[in-house]
Amino acid sequence: MSRATRNSLPQAAPSSPSPTTNLSGCRANPFRGKIAPRDRKLLGKLAGEVALRTFPASQIASWQQEIHEQTLRLSRSIDQPNFTKVGRDDLVRMIRMYDDLFFDGKILPVAEAEGLSFGISSRMTRIAGKMVTHYPTGDHNAPRKFELILSSTLLFQTFEDEGRPAEVTGRLCRDRLEAMQRVAEHEFVHLIEMLIWNDGNCSEARFQSIANRYFGHTDYRHDLITQRERAFSKFNIRVGDRVSFHHERRTLTGRVNRITRRATILVQDNNGDRFSDGQRYLRFYVPLEKLTKA
Ligand SMILES: [Zn+2]
Repeated sequence: MSRATRNSLPQAAPSSPSPTTNLSGCRANPFRGKIAPRDRKLLGKLAGEVALRTFPASQIASWQQEIHEQTLRLSRSIDQPNFTKVGRDDLVRMIRMYDDLFFDGKILPVAEAEGLSFGISSRMTRIAGKMVTHYPTGDHNAPRKFELILSSTLLFQTFEDEGRPAEVTGRLCRDRLEAMQRVAEHEFVHLIEMLIWNDGNCSEARFQSIANRYFGHTDYRHDLITQRERAFSKFNIRVGDRVSFHHERRTLTGRVNRITRRATILVQDNNGDRFSDGQRYLRFYVPLEKLTKA
């Protein structure tokens, strides 16, 4: 069985075969053979499809799970869900699997016809991923070069402590590989928007519609760790701190258990769930700006 390419994807030569993937049962590239870079008719067809297609939630979840399993099976670096090594070939393979399963393999050959490369960066410390569109001639109507990069640093900062789930793109992730998938999905949607419409923004409706219909994302933010950093730098609040907040005209005091976009506060209460320390706590989800240190 052939492996995914280790380096950045080459630009598809007119007669080159479609990229192989290791995913069993993937569909053949319907555009095998000749794709002109930036073919307006082809991009228009993709636009119609991407703008409307929907999947049942169960189908989305099962394909995402399949990619999780196949990555663990095929990768030389990702040997466990909370992996400690990741290579560019892992990202290339992952994005190909997404294209094959969710888009019938139609996106990548079209992007490759213009120019597409992938990267894993350890220098990106503030964002989990990015998709850069280059205009080599300066002409925005000419073929472009796309660059899709994930931050290994941010991935490795996530799930340092085992077992605690994290929220990425509004989805709860149980492990680092799930977080990597959510970030890759997000950046893939950026690639699709730029490829088809030559414009796009994850804070806008079209992006969010695609990310939700294809991947079940409910939030466009995936800067999980920077949220925790933000909590500390802006509000001086960290996991473990004692904090107070108002709830139904009472002031409650508890401990910060988790920080995503809101903080999870555990307040000791006999009606709460029993925790490992033997005490009972109620959970409250409180915006960071509503907390004061106790
Ligand atoms: Zn984005």
